[in-house]
Amino acid sequence: MLEARRRDDADWRSGRTFSLVYHAGDEVVSVLRDALSLFVMENGLSPLAFPSLRAFENDVIAIALGLLHGPEGSVGSMTTGGTESILMAVRTAREWGRSVLGIARPKILVPVTAHPAFHKAAHYLDVEVVPVPVGPDFRGDVEAARSLADERTVLVVASAPSYPQGVLDPIAELAALARERRILCHVDACLGGFLLPFVERLGRPLPPFDFRVEGVTSISADLHKYGYAAKGASVVLYRDADLRKHQFFTHTEWPGGLYVSPTMTGTRSGAAIAAAWAVLHYLGEEGYLDLARRVLATTDRLRAGIEAIPGLHVLGEPAMSVLSFVSDRHDVYALGQALERRGWRLDLNQRPASLHLMVTPAHEAHADAFLADLRAAAAEPLSPAAGNAAVYGMLAAVEDRVQVGDFLKGLLDGIYTPGAAP
Ligand SMILES: *Cc1c(COP(=O)(O)O)cnc(C)c1O
Repeated sequence: MLEARRRDDADWRSGRTFSLVYHAGDEVVSVLRDALSLFVMENGLSPLAFPSLRAFENDVIAIALGLLHGPEGSVGSMTTGGTESILMAVRTAREWGRSVLGIARPKILVPVTAHPAFHKAAHYLDVEVVPVPVGPDFRGDVEAARSLADERTVLVVASAPSYPQGVLDPIAELAALARERRILCHVDACLGGFLLPFVERLGRPLPPFDFRVEGVTSISADLHKYGYAAKGASVVLYRDADLRKHQFFTHTEWPGGLYVSPTMTGTRSGAAIAAAWAVLHYLGEEGYLDLARRVLATTDRLRAGIEAIPGLHVLGEPAMSVLSFVSDRHDVYALGQALERRGWRLDLNQRPASLHLMVTPAHEAHADAFLADLRAAAAEPLSPAAGNAAVYGMLAAVEDRVQVGDFLKGLLDGIYTPGAAP
């Protein structure tokens, strides 16, 4: 029955879906399956009851710190995903700001292209987000950040790379600003954490984006993206253990016992931890290098192919395998729909309206077919976007963003109706 129910799901194996699934081949999936099923019942809540999970987690963190140049004394925690890693980094900054700087209601500087998880974290944690504009290159504007920083600011955020355009923020400059002000700097490498180190090793020059940059105090990196792990695995890393202590939670008055936990969650899937450990060792450096080489080559082909189509332009200077493109001749959402009719599933960006590609090894064999379909779609007399894409285009343009938010909540309400069939 489960197999049959998957029939209408996004077909990630065929390389026609972008984002959501990072498929590194059937062999990797089979390794993940074995690890997941071996540890399906184990609970990461208790490292003392499950020394295996404790060792896996410590090893995963050591590997991540090795890739991202964590200095002597650097530490980290495994979480269930990028959102939780970011929640933890913001909570750490808030607690650090309160206890070290005595700031009751801290602010964080967040480029507008940074992931919504920072806004979610700020919302839950009662921290104030100060949005930082980006320049024409879609990178955080350092001078704007400088002028927006004040005595309540505790954290500067930068992305490596950003989700919308796949560009690197000016990390060294933003971290220098944090240093000058003696505050923290978080690099969101949820996307790039397990790919950029290999991009560099392949000889593509990148500005430093990790702990090599002096002012960077924490980094998030998702194992379940370019680490090719099963869903539910990410890391949040800190320059030193003193900083990480601000992340930990204790409750010492509970009749159920002394309680201490490192992250948001209580019970944690041992399966996700074991699977992440397994895939890191199964692929090894060689495996990740080879996958990175293939992903970059595929991205280069796609990028060149897109640029060769009249009217289409890639935005900014994508650092790795994430990019978006606009058209000065088409309603780009209508173009997205024409691709959808041909079986491709792309994300739609707003500000500016653009189509988004997240390239993985699964796309290697399909880049030419994609470009052929894109060329054909771009040559068609396109009717204006209809259905979902039209609604999306309309919502992107609505002035009253509270109204848009309410509309989205209504949509979610409808999607999650108890017992509803698709
Ligand atoms: C995916 C992503 C996140 C959030 O991660 P989840 O695993 O979806 O919670 C944060 N930042 C960036 C840049 C991302 O791409």
